[in-house]
Amino acid sequence: MISENLKKINLKIKEICKKNNISQNDIMLLAVTKTHPLEKIEEALENGISYIAENKVQDAGNKIPFIKNSYKEFHFIGHLQSNKINKLLKINPTLIHSIDKISTAKKLNEQLQSLGRIQNILIQVNTSGEESKSGINPKNTIEFVKSISKFENLKIKGLMTIGMFTDDKKIIRNCFKDLRLLFNEIKDMEINNVDMKYLSMGMSNDFEIALEEGANIIRLGSIIFGAREYF
Ligand SMILES: *Cc1c(COP(=O)(O)O)cnc(C)c1O
Repeated sequence: MISENLKKINLKIKEICKKNNISQNDIMLLAVTKTHPLEKIEEALENGISYIAENKVQDAGNKIPFIKNSYKEFHFIGHLQSNKINKLLKINPTLIHSIDKISTAKKLNEQLQSLGRIQNILIQVNTSGEESKSGINPKNTIEFVKSISKFENLKIKGLMTIGMFTDDKKIIRNCFKDLRLLFNEIKDMEINNVDMKYLSMGMSNDFEIALEEGANIIRLGSIIFGAREYF
């Protein structure tokens, strides 16, 4: 099942890359393993997955350290509560996609300082305007990036968004377009301690559109592992 799914997904990515003149090597496929058991994660790793992501610190802590196969990177993509920072740092996320609060960033920076570590992060932007979604308002993002850039143990590496949950592809595309424009704008500003490298957008339902709009990290869960029983 997982191997079949991954074959199809890789073909699709290849096709979109070819059509849009994108180098497939520049695209990071992140397998979102949330709610799925260790065996499923191992199976994905045996079928070519190298990058995995979880959205809850508790669940990640219960699984990531127990994975037997080797993986290249673990990413954290969910809302980060400041009382979970310690626990998250113990499982060594290569990239945290979801920074959207100064107070959490400040605490994260303090913890990192005391550990003598540097952490790569993305800023999560709420491009859909849906209240249920985390992320910084696009209008406030540049100011936010400037504030976060002052934290010396955090390295901003780009932006992340979740597209609007809708069947209207045009609306989804606009979310991704907005994020790319913001990404380019911030990149051109050449802010100290900010290295705009990653544009994390696109999930099972909308990764094709995201790739067309310039995503270089796509986060795929259900299309690889099947439907989740809970979120
Ligand atoms: C769950 C989740 C995904 C993957 O969602 P699918 O629709 O299953 O592909 C991607 N990004 C974030 C932030 C998530 O929480």
